[in-house]
Amino acid sequence: MKSRFSIPLGSPFGIKISIHWTFGFLIAWIVLVSVNQGLEVYQILMQIVFVLTIFVCVVLHELGHSLMAIRLGGKVESITLLPIGGMANMSEMPEKPREEFLVSAAGPLVNVVIALLLMLYMSWIHPVSPDDMEFEAITFQNFPVMLLAANLFIVAFNLIPAFPMDGGRLFRSALAMKMSRLQATSIAKDIGQIFAIIFIIAGIFVNPFLIIIGIFVLLGAKGEHEMIKYQDILNQYTVEDVLKTDYQALDADETIGQAAEKLVHISDRGFVITSEGEFAGLLTKNDIIKGLNERGREIAVKEFMDSDVPSVRSSDSLFEVYKDMRRNQHEIVPVKAGDNFKGVLELENINEFLLIKKAIV
Ligand SMILES: [Zn+2]
Repeated sequence: MKSRFSIPLGSPFGIKISIHWTFGFLIAWIVLVSVNQGLEVYQILMQIVFVLTIFVCVVLHELGHSLMAIRLGGKVESITLLPIGGMANMSEMPEKPREEFLVSAAGPLVNVVIALLLMLYMSWIHPVSPDDMEFEAITFQNFPVMLLAANLFIVAFNLIPAFPMDGGRLFRSALAMKMSRLQATSIAKDIGQIFAIIFIIAGIFVNPFLIIIGIFVLLGAKGEHEMIKYQDILNQYTVEDVLKTDYQALDADETIGQAAEKLVHISDRGFVITSEGEFAGLLTKNDIIKGLNERGREIAVKEFMDSDVPSVRSSDSLFEVYKDMRRNQHEIVPVKAGDNFKGVLELENINEFLLIKKAIV
């Protein structure tokens, strides 16, 4: 999730936590529904405080995953809060079955601990009498009970054995202790899809929200399976195998206008910019269009080229590079061997390569 759509909240343990702007819709929706129900201002505020508290529990849940991942040698960039839940963006995720199991279990475990603490609180400090059990609205009295219920719901929901829920990963990693990760993912995908269909059918009769979850699970199962299949294929190759050496080159002093004219005749995603015969940067089609719009035809391409695209080595694992390119939305990266510029790698070419290899497998 791009940071420009999110409001930063802080960086505990070096993990950037931010809240997505669509969260505003959730709060607006709560206010609308509450006003419709004829609730008083105090009750509406309680609803909002309650939802925000649940999301604090969601952040703690994501921190549980993240800290366990870091402990096992992974890297976590950020946690983004969406109205549908939290999302931890891990750049390096432990993949050994035992490690994946621990990372997946750590999130729901946090909510189990929160639930236990709430039970202790209610039995020792703030006993809840049956009179407090009216659940039309959140009150100061029923707040802990409702929060307990919410945390138990988070645990139960996340333990559904289907991607993208934690349960899908727990299930896959447990299977992967006995078989290959690809086989395990394939079984987990099938089970996930069965759950998705149950959700969708139940949604028609019970609550339309279940249909949305069903579709979410259907896509999650498919996406995870594809990614593991890609990993299985791409792990057998290096950047060298898909390297493009017949790239289009432009000199850094040529103009955007000249680049635009050449663009018409090529199918490449962009140009390699050289200065005195050395690699200087990349210029994508988008850069050219942006350059034309903002500065006109006469500006030199070096003003608009991207000279900070991180280069990859021709011996790098194709899967790792593919993952990074997708995550950072790099369509094209320069490839080096030692200090020498060898060519470029295009995301499009890797996708084509995958299609061919998938067809053969
Ligand atoms: Zn989780």
